[in-house]
Amino acid sequence: MLRCEDAARLDRLYLAADRTRRAVVGDAVFFRGLVEISNYCVRGCHYCGLRAANHRVRRYRLTQDDILACARAIKAHGLTTVVLQGGEDPTIDAASMAGLIREIREQTGLTVTLSLGEHSPETLALWHQAGATRYLLRFETSNPSLYEQYHPRAAGLPSRLELLQQLRDIGYEVGSGVLVGLPGQTYADLGRDIQFFATLDLDMIGVGPFVPHPDTPLGKSGRVSPEQVPADASMTFKVIALARLIQPAANVPVTTALRTVDPEVGFKRGLCAGANVVMPNFTPEHSRGDYAIYPGKVTATLSVADNIRNLKNTLAALGRTVGEGHGDSPNRRRRWGGSTT
Ligand code: SAH
Repeated sequence: MLRCEDAARLDRLYLAADRTRRAVVGDAVFFRGLVEISNYCVRGCHYCGLRAANHRVRRYRLTQDDILACARAIKAHGLTTVVLQGGEDPTIDAASMAGLIREIREQTGLTVTLSLGEHSPETLALWHQAGATRYLLRFETSNPSLYEQYHPRAAGLPSRLELLQQLRDIGYEVGSGVLVGLPGQTYADLGRDIQFFATLDLDMIGVGPFVPHPDTPLGKSGRVSPEQVPADASMTFKVIALARLIQPAANVPVTTALRTVDPEVGFKRGLCAGANVVMPNFTPEHSRGDYAIYPGKVTATLSVADNIRNLKNTLAALGRTVGEGHGDSPNRRRRWGGSTT
């Protein structure tokens, strides 16, 4: 199906994914408020504009008060989840992050999702005890040699996968995913990536097209071989649909990267291909443009209110509803029973 270009066959794929989505997770679309807390990063990921060696990015780190204000704004907009995302910022110490998580839980009752890269199991357990219940950590690619090539001085794919298992053992709802069209990624690689979603029994699956960033080693790479997966919206819709079919109870967002490469209909078509989540950006406007993992992010200039209004209009036109409650993955309920919050 990844190679398929036959419109009628693809329509059948999207229809099957959409039916499965409706039957398993329903018509509700959950909004998660994204706060990009720091763009400092010690890592050297070849695709990412926040890599340590990129000196052209203006670095920022939100204060705890900034982040709490974002959490209150998320609650004021009627959302029930905050996602704290960031680079691997060595100055973010485990104890103060735990304090922040506790404070957010006490002040707002929001579900706290973390997306802060790799940390020790002890730190991850501390944050879970403090009240964070979901963790997003993409494995990026299941091809070990590509993984190693693009993640210098990192621990390697097996250790990233082990960390996903540790997150699960700690009790987190676990999200992961890959880049679509990473240079060197073949159709066979991407097929294996998708099978991995089921092997890992993921609760959340986030996929987006690779968007070249000019200030990174992969800034200028194009499509080099016929086996190279294109990094475009069409391929991403296919991956969303296949993710829904292979791991039906997962929460699957329409990612900002997908909305960026297809600002017109990316959100709508993603929702019709199996997705049920969106993550509007609540990072303060003074810093939002600096969280430039890739250039041209669609939400970089949109106000929070306008973004949410547009998203809700699209939902309404599709006959979909805004999710109520915390929107735990049904997968998680099957695994642990009850609600997390
Ligand atoms: N430091 C955290 C968060 C990373 S940002 C972590 O390691 O998990 C979230 C995701 O952005 C990454 O997992 C990666 O898949 C994606 N990303 C990074 N650079 C990108 C690019 N150039 N184009 C598209 N997505 C990118």
